[in-house]
Amino acid sequence: MTMKPRQNAAAVRNADEPTTCASISTNNIFSNPDFDGHEALHAFFHAESGLKGFVAIHSTKLGPSFGGCRMWDYATEADAIRDALRLSQGMSYKNALAGLSYGGGKAVIMGDARSDKSEALFEAYGDVINSLGGRYLTAEDVGIKVADMEIVGRRTDFVSGIAKEGRMAGGDPSPITARGVFQGLKAAVKFGLEQDDLKGLKVAVQGIGNVGYNLCRLLHDAGAELFVADVYKPNLDRAHDEFGATVVDPSAILFQDVDVVAPCALGGLISVDTIPQIKARVIAGASNNQLATDDDGERLQARGIHYAPDYVVNSGGIITVVSEYEGGRPEAEIIEKVDRIYERTLAIFVRAQAEGQPTSKIADQMAREVIAGA
Ligand code: NAD
Repeated sequence: MTMKPRQNAAAVRNADEPTTCASISTNNIFSNPDFDGHEALHAFFHAESGLKGFVAIHSTKLGPSFGGCRMWDYATEADAIRDALRLSQGMSYKNALAGLSYGGGKAVIMGDARSDKSEALFEAYGDVINSLGGRYLTAEDVGIKVADMEIVGRRTDFVSGIAKEGRMAGGDPSPITARGVFQGLKAAVKFGLEQDDLKGLKVAVQGIGNVGYNLCRLLHDAGAELFVADVYKPNLDRAHDEFGATVVDPSAILFQDVDVVAPCALGGLISVDTIPQIKARVIAGASNNQLATDDDGERLQARGIHYAPDYVVNSGGIITVVSEYEGGRPEAEIIEKVDRIYERTLAIFVRAQAEGQPTSKIADQMAREVIAGA
């Protein structure tokens, strides 16, 4: 069993020229388990706009790396690097299991998404992405909106998640991500609670942002009873008013006496500290990297909690942005593809049970098998 260590410090190289990329190196970056054989880790910096961050390219074995860009007010550069590395590895696995001909990559911009955005910043980011020559394709993640990606699109074609004229599916991937999460959640409920109907099911949703809100709508329409938490009050008011959701303190949402917990905020929340307090029998949500360490998969299994692997159930977004990038497909076709997340999730539960392994481990293994076979 491998415990992931604390992150290592790494320096941001301040490039003299605006928006150029530079490979980063430290004494121990390559030996950090989070590095996991990444093909590249680029640091970028643009003094005039205040842009700084990292692009991590985990693998291009299946095709160019594809993954969203996150804007977050990281406490340290090491936190940002660690997030980029873990998220890009997740994208490799996500794309592989979703049957996409793309590898895994991710970008993180260090900054407050509510106060540090500017046109200059996203134009500079577009130049960074362009300078990578298509080895990394970008789109939205936490903190990034369609309007931001539209600005990026002024400077590079290696961008998706923009509602382009004449294209059929595209734009904000969040509603389709929520649809996929809903399918994965239903599969987990079917396997873990042996029921098809969500009517009366109690679901605690953590984070009522772009995906969480859309997921709440689907759950509400299916008759589920909702419990919600967010650190941003207007999002809670909306869920309360529209879905009659019960508002819960963010520190208590994971531990509600409910059937399902759906994490839709940030990662690392399922850990040695939180697992003993979780009452739900099913965890299925949109957040990337929900498990703090690999060992948490075993801890969940030992407690009989049915965990739907995050990158399997939240792959609807990448399925739609890939389709947009490739020129667009009818929405019905995308929906059909995303709805297959139900069968994929169920197959992971079945194999995990047959092999006596945690679902997180089985999903990783299946993804590595796909990549190795490329
Ligand atoms: P978002 O920024 O729109 O929403 C996140 C919400 O979580 C916000 O409302 C925020 O206020 C809230 N939040 C932050 N910290 C919290 C805390 N401690 N407790 C409770 N709420 C908290 O992001 P999103 O696009 O909805 O994405 C949510 C998660 O799903 C992220 O982990 C993201 O990586 C993942 N994801 C999103 C997509 C997509 O299409 N948007 C696709 C795949 C995965």
